[in-house]
Amino acid sequence: MQKEKCIICRKPLNGGIIINGRGICNNCEGRIIKAKPNTDFYEYYKNCIRKTLVQFIPRGVTKDCQDYHL
Ligand SMILES: [Zn+2]
Repeated sequence: MQKEKCIICRKPLNGGIIINGRGICNNCEGRIIKAKPNTDFYEYYKNCIRKTLVQFIPRGVTKDCQDYHL
């Protein structure tokens, strides 16, 4: 069994929260809660989330999804 890692500090998770299947440790969660928009950490966190989520969204999915609605 592979242990979940925090997507921000990349340490093994010991508790914390899971967002879209990605783990964030208690330490970083606390920092996010305290982080204010437009600070360096907030931007860094947003980039981490974006990069992580993009890995799971193959190119072209948006186009395909639109087709399904037609
Ligand atoms: Zn962390």
